[in-house]
Amino acid sequence: MVSYNLRMTTMNTPTDTNILNSYNPSTGELVGTVPVTPVASIDGMIAKAHQAAKAWTALSAQERADMLKPAGEKLLEKAEELGRILSLEQGKPLAEGIGEVTGCGSRMNDEVDEVAKAVAPEVLTDEGVESTIYYDPFGVCATITPWNFPALMPHWTIVPALVAGNTVIVKPSEQTPLIADEYVKVLNEFLPEGVLQIIHGEDDQGKALVAGNVNMIAFTGSKTAGQHIMAAAAPGLKRLILELGSKDPCIVLEGADLEKAVAFVSNNSMRNCGQVCVSTERIYVQDCVKEEFTKMLIAKVGEFQVGDCLADGSTIGPMVMSEQKTHVLAQIEDAKAKGANVLFGGTPMDGNFVEPTILDNLNHDMDIMTIETFGPVACIQTVKDANEAIELANDTEYGLGAVMFGDENVVRGISRRSTAGMVGVNRGIGGASGTPWVGARKSGIGYHSGPMGHRQFCQVRVVSTNEGS
Ligand code: NAD
Repeated sequence: MVSYNLRMTTMNTPTDTNILNSYNPSTGELVGTVPVTPVASIDGMIAKAHQAAKAWTALSAQERADMLKPAGEKLLEKAEELGRILSLEQGKPLAEGIGEVTGCGSRMNDEVDEVAKAVAPEVLTDEGVESTIYYDPFGVCATITPWNFPALMPHWTIVPALVAGNTVIVKPSEQTPLIADEYVKVLNEFLPEGVLQIIHGEDDQGKALVAGNVNMIAFTGSKTAGQHIMAAAAPGLKRLILELGSKDPCIVLEGADLEKAVAFVSNNSMRNCGQVCVSTERIYVQDCVKEEFTKMLIAKVGEFQVGDCLADGSTIGPMVMSEQKTHVLAQIEDAKAKGANVLFGGTPMDGNFVEPTILDNLNHDMDIMTIETFGPVACIQTVKDANEAIELANDTEYGLGAVMFGDENVVRGISRRSTAGMVGVNRGIGGASGTPWVGARKSGIGYHSGPMGHRQFCQVRVVSTNEGS
């Protein structure tokens, strides 16, 4: 395991009120800066977005979609350069940074066409009446995004919002402003002035944006910030999409393909250093397969190599900031104090790095089984049967994803008892094309992706006429 000697105190901390510094979480070095958007200027930016909306809305959805297609090509051309910036400020291995930007670029053509199709008017008829359902833009959409997928998360909301005919103001995370800035610059090469703007800063800028004269807010981030945003949106009854945190379970039962289950669990607990909204944060393993599963998981997790995003062979980077590391280590210590066993890892590392860790003998009295961890920790609790597993899996306020491995009939049976929004049966949660990304309970409100998701960026209007008139 690699050990790094790093400064911890200055990482990712804005040091000047006019300048936002972005630091490399592996080394503490400055990667770049962006100017902070003065809070006093945000209302003017919103007014500009309303002005730009007049011409933007007048275009057809397909015209807007076609305008964005060359931006996809440009993202692909610049994927190495932008992926490097992404990795340097967020910490994930370079291949993953490049992969994230490439993913945004390569999907662009299909995505914009999908949105244009989803928001096309639909006609329904009955005897004597013909109704047309229109999917109109709301006006100005504020999108506020987190740092864990700092290109994909802005892309995820900006693209459908724009194609649906809204103008957009994005407020990316203060931890990863550089890649969002570059992404917006690429899109703006192909968009009319004022259609897409970016705001940099911390919560104050986000709060001013939400409080301003915007028509909808598409927020991706923590539950706590989502609750504030929902309250702030209430007086104006602003439309909301909230994609929030989770505590996703994975169930492993008798009859599971253990190779498959272990490959899924190790990757999904550790990728992006566990900083993924659908990370596997709780693992419920049936007693009869526990020993074998655990042995295989230890071997698999041992293959990860912790290191700087640019280091050869590194497959896990650092935590994005020291506060995140402190939070993860505190949960591990709380679990140990309450009886958890460390099966793998747990060796202290310098800087923002955390060794991939496997904990066993866990229960729901421990913070690590109830509060979002967002770190590279696989947490195992033993269960006696499928019934106990699904009851424990549902014992959470969250509900983004849930995955279950075992005998096909048994896991299909318990899958419909899951309280999560997206359930994978003997596979991950990724669904067929057109399925929405959806969080249940306190993991979110609304959807992304697929026709259901794209239409969230629209006001539905129905015009009915007498048939044949
Ligand atoms: P965060 O909530 O701290 O910050 C997200 C964004 O909101 C940042 O841009 C921040 O400046 C802004 N913000 C914070 N408070 C605000 C307020 N009161 N008003 C307006 N803006 C405000 O989240 P984070 O730490 O950047 O991201 C990690 C979280 O995001 C995790 O909980 C993770 O599960 C979640 N997430 C969810 C999904 C999903 O699809 N459900 C996807 C990615 C990340």
